[in-house]
Amino acid sequence: MVDLSWAIDPIYIATIFFFIIGLQRMSHPLTARSGIVWAGAAMLIATLVTFLTPNLTNFALIAIGIVIGGGFGYIAAKRVAMTDMPQMVAFYNGMGGGAAAGISAVALLGTTTNTTGSLAVIGGLIGAVSFSGSLIAFLKLQGWMRPRPITFNGQQVVNMAVLALAILSGVLVILQPSWVPLTVATYLPLFFILSLGFGFLMTLPIGGADMPVVISMYNAFTGLAVALDGFSFATPNYAMVVAGIIVGAAGSLLTIQMARAMNRSISNVFFGAFGATEEKGMQIQGSMKSIDAEDVAVMLAYANKVIIAPGYGMAVAQAQQKVKELTDLLESRNVQVKFAIHPVAGRMPGHMNVLLAEAGVAYDHLFDRDEVNPEFPSIDVVLVIGANDVVNPAAHRQGSPLFGMPILDVEQAKNVIVLKRGQGKGFAGIENDLFYRDNTRMLYGDAQETVAKLVQALKKL
Ligand code: NDP
Repeated sequence: MVDLSWAIDPIYIATIFFFIIGLQRMSHPLTARSGIVWAGAAMLIATLVTFLTPNLTNFALIAIGIVIGGGFGYIAAKRVAMTDMPQMVAFYNGMGGGAAAGISAVALLGTTTNTTGSLAVIGGLIGAVSFSGSLIAFLKLQGWMRPRPITFNGQQVVNMAVLALAILSGVLVILQPSWVPLTVATYLPLFFILSLGFGFLMTLPIGGADMPVVISMYNAFTGLAVALDGFSFATPNYAMVVAGIIVGAAGSLLTIQMARAMNRSISNVFFGAFGATEEKGMQIQGSMKSIDAEDVAVMLAYANKVIIAPGYGMAVAQAQQKVKELTDLLESRNVQVKFAIHPVAGRMPGHMNVLLAEAGVAYDHLFDRDEVNPEFPSIDVVLVIGANDVVNPAAHRQGSPLFGMPILDVEQAKNVIVLKRGQGKGFAGIENDLFYRDNTRMLYGDAQETVAKLVQALKKL
């Protein structure tokens, strides 16, 4: 067979440029789709070129793995509902971490130096933590596990002890000292079991509301593990190193930005058991006052400025097309309509942007929190469509579990109309006194149906 192994590194370098172009294009909603195609093509080429590796064996096993993994990924991605996308991201990210841990295991079972062995152990630890942690994030987001923080006395001591034992067994794997009676075949599985256990324990006390930060943090972990694995063989694999570093850096930046959007430190997210308790002594005054669609339509028709603040409920109801119809109708009546987009509205970063772009809402209608917050006092009507935590004024109150989270200050508008199905709480499980305020009215029902009613009522005016 012709030896084409000389082509591997140049092609890997070409794929690295593809990855970078892909990432750069993903930074804007208009070019994001093509960014995914660039990065996907790079991944495909990098996978195919690996088959040129000299003395590669187990072709059949590798092909079976690719067919099963690729087939499952294709079908799952085609079928997944937009609302379930975050758990899919968590799941796939976990698979990446698991694959990185598997590569470390293979490296550690072969011949290693102290340096390559150490890199494989660190990569294995991080990859395994990302695998089990992401699976817990998946279960919590999928609703197969209680989303609230799971805590117990001495939790952090137990977690630290498990981490210390995982590190110790990793050191034994590298050094393989003769005075330890056991062989590497014993401490290697032990090392992975403890690492997986640490990821599991570390994620249990994190509440559902913190999952955006957790998922992007584990995403960064997976990237880092892959990059370290790229160095853990005698000949480094540069495609793994660079792709891993890109994922690690992008994931870290996203983690920091998400944490900032909630005004939380990363350590508070991981160790703060956020959402485990309700605010003590909190008594909301007043009652929720409902309104019907016809009355809201009149308010909207005669308003000058309207802001729409969408949240997770808009995604659940798949109301974005109707919202776009409503926007067009209002604009045809010379009402100014803007969208207030909170960075963690919904269940994944950019969730609202994706839905609204899909419905054809022009990108120049979307404004982020800092841009739009000063405008609320001059706004005639704010339509809160399926948002809750991101508009909860409890964030301004000391003692509230949400205290300090930057929110959309919709309560400052002249009129606030909240579209939701009933009295359900938001993802953080905290009462929202916005709903009880004098300038707030509740328009109950599934958001797609209520927005459709608003459109109908407006057409009649
Ligand atoms: P929330 O989850 O706080 O609230 C959503 C509201 O939508 C609920 O109160 C619910 O009330 C209502 N709702 C649900 N279904 C419908 C429907 N069909 N029609 C109308 N209303 C509906 O959403 P937010 O977007 O305000 O906040 C996001 C929260 O999720 C934040 O706490 C954030 O930290 C967290 N999070 C964010 C992620 C991200 O990356 N963006 C990822 C994971 C979590 P009712 O049941 O009464 O209808």
